[in-house]
Amino acid sequence: MDTFLRRWRRAQEELGRQGVDHLLVTHSSDFYYLTGLPIKASERITGLLLSADGAARLILPHFELARVPKALQAEVDVHTWEETDDPLRRIADLVGKSNTKMAVSDQTWSVFLVGLQDRMPGGAWVSGARILTPLRAVKDETEIRLLREAQQKAEVALGNLLARGLAGKTERQAAAELVTLRQEAGLDTAGSVGIVGAGPNGASPHHLNSDRVIQKGDAIVIDFGGGHHGYRADITRTPHVGPPSAEFAEVYEKVRRANAAAFAAIRPGVTCASIDAAGRKVIDDAGYGAYFTHRLGHGIGLDGHEEPYILAGNETVLHAGTTFSDEPGIYLPDKFGVRIEDIVVVTGTGADSLTTFPRELQIID
Ligand code: ZN
Ligand code: ZN
Ligand code: ZN
Repeated sequence: MDTFLRRWRRAQEELGRQGVDHLLVTHSSDFYYLTGLPIKASERITGLLLSADGAARLILPHFELARVPKALQAEVDVHTWEETDDPLRRIADLVGKSNTKMAVSDQTWSVFLVGLQDRMPGGAWVSGARILTPLRAVKDETEIRLLREAQQKAEVALGNLLARGLAGKTERQAAAELVTLRQEAGLDTAGSVGIVGAGPNGASPHHLNSDRVIQKGDAIVIDFGGGHHGYRADITRTPHVGPPSAEFAEVYEKVRRANAAAFAAIRPGVTCASIDAAGRKVIDDAGYGAYFTHRLGHGIGLDGHEEPYILAGNETVLHAGTTFSDEPGIYLPDKFGVRIEDIVVVTGTGADSLTTFPRELQIID
């Protein structure tokens, strides 16, 4: 509970600093971050209302109160609502005065936000990310350990998949096999199919798996994740079935160098944009700049994609404890794609890779 209380205090300090009265967080990774309660998205609102004056209130359906651990109930004002109540009215009443400034968590459904806006016509509304992003972007030791463990489990699954060989399987079959291997490794795979893009299909960075049969001469972009106590894994490797062409080997090497150059540029105090630029320069200099069509990376934690995003224009400065992906790629239409994705953490002096899977080209069966 101490971890959560510390996060509440920090959020409340941030509210005060930014002149916002309340932060409402409904079912989402933000809610999990602040309570440890894995509440599923539902038309019945559950919310944590943190206030600049120090108040902390939990609003939830009365019949679900038994889910809330006693330790949490002891720290918060619990406001349960009955099926026939108007819970949004209750929240508006709790907030009180009509000209309140409210921050609302980003993943709050519009049915709740619009309903609240109707009930609080004098309210001012800002994104909850203003309060929570600076907190969530700096992971504590436990979070970094869980992210590392998630990544290790993904590596076990990937190693087992590659060892079995992929030629003769369809992309869908390979992805299904990988789901089983991820589960065997201890990852939660709910809602994450993974990408298996073979041959020319790999040139579409977010390829939808097809019935294409993987064959000798294919490069295969394999990108997947999974959950571990809520924290996400994310890894991409591009193995090649049988010996590669000279062109593929060259492109692969450029991507590998871009991944390494980005990693080498990471340290506290530098901007997200500078990391993207360091990786992109390698690919630009090699003449493939037009074929690196996405950002270099994204933050990762309780969400697979979260702040900070590693791309041109993002002048956000990195702090120790921030975790994100380093995933340059080159995608040659009708030929193949190459992406290498690691998860890294900013340390006191540089960076540490949570991903240890070999980055050198792997030739598989
Ligand atoms: Zn992606
Ligand atoms: Zn990925
Ligand atoms: Zn990623």
